[in-house]
Amino acid sequence: MTKNTDKNGGERGGVSQILRRQFLAHVGQTSPSPLMIEVARAEGVFFYTPEGRRYYDLIAGVSVSNVGHANPDVVAAVQCQAAEYMHVMVYGELVERPQVQFATRLSELLGLECVYFVNSGAEAIEGAIKTARLHTHRDTVLKMRHAYHGSSHGPMSADARLTFNDFESLNVIDDHTACVVVEPVQGEAGVRLPDMEWMAALRKRCSDAGALLVFDEVQTGMGRTGTMFAMQQIESFGIRPDIVCMAKAIGGGMPLGAFAANRDVMGALQDPPLGYINTFGGHPVCCAAGLAALNYLEQHRLVEQVESKGELYEQLLRDHPQVREIRRSGLLMAVELGNSEKMYRLMELFKDSGILSDWFLYCDTAFRISPPLTITEFEIRDSSRLILEALDSL
Ligand code: PLP
Repeated sequence: MTKNTDKNGGERGGVSQILRRQFLAHVGQTSPSPLMIEVARAEGVFFYTPEGRRYYDLIAGVSVSNVGHANPDVVAAVQCQAAEYMHVMVYGELVERPQVQFATRLSELLGLECVYFVNSGAEAIEGAIKTARLHTHRDTVLKMRHAYHGSSHGPMSADARLTFNDFESLNVIDDHTACVVVEPVQGEAGVRLPDMEWMAALRKRCSDAGALLVFDEVQTGMGRTGTMFAMQQIESFGIRPDIVCMAKAIGGGMPLGAFAANRDVMGALQDPPLGYINTFGGHPVCCAAGLAALNYLEQHRLVEQVESKGELYEQLLRDHPQVREIRRSGLLMAVELGNSEKMYRLMELFKDSGILSDWFLYCDTAFRISPPLTITEFEIRDSSRLILEALDSL
């Protein structure tokens, strides 16, 4: 292969062509028409192609890069920890400072005693399901219709017999139910919020039936909805989960997942011993990155600003004639067009105008706005201008 240089556009273009061909030939594809935008670097709310083309990242890796790309505090923490030690056996035998400190901080924030680290959101759900089954000695796992909890078999095979705000559906929770898994705000359903009365009824029904309530905060955690965790907005209604699952932004851009519970529930993993183990969960570099991201969110008071930033986007976009509705929780937004063909056409227009957005797994009539929480007022106004121009061209 020729050397990779920007000085000569032709040479650079050749390298990009080769890379694109190799991408299609050797990287497993899950969509028939990938975007194929090459990423050279990313900073703040932007990423750049090798040719210097700039894109607003309004996906943020699907609510991962909450503290912005190349966050200097996270980068420093990663470099520092990588130089000290990387992987030494992780699951709960050796005392590793980044893991212990991060678990302690998360426990305090969640009001739950123990945190078990894993690698991803799906694995956090797997771990929570296994813990609930061991703790209750029951098998059935229930979830909501249109819920997304990950692509592995555990979350996929949970029984989707509950519907947000449908009181009748709560009757399926019975003395065979190990746990009910629910997102406090449904992300991939297209940002759907439950009524608090229904959430309170769900909590009560679980307690009455002896089933555990598992909150999936994989997408809503680390400030995305305007509080550090979405559950903090419903605690005042007396609704608290037994297990909380986290991932995405908790690694500050590094792969990390976790589930948290009180000791009496988490203790189920010791009986029989090694009830759940994994090789990389709680990797010291990922925990150091997550801790730095959490500190950054707190020191810069970013979570307090999330609601007003989301509100500004909503104000700027809601009156466009193509916009049917905006569903929003903090900076997790679905802009509803009511038509999937328009939505797909809009994605093409966005690509031309330097916006990266997408649709939702179970809602392709709306597009996503979930930028890094570090986004500034200027960047919100500027990206909205580009979005409105694209909507004008629909
Ligand atoms: N739970 C929710 C709410 C999610 O949005 C996702 C991913 O989008 C997952 C779980 C799965 O996380 P992961 O992709 O890290 O397995």
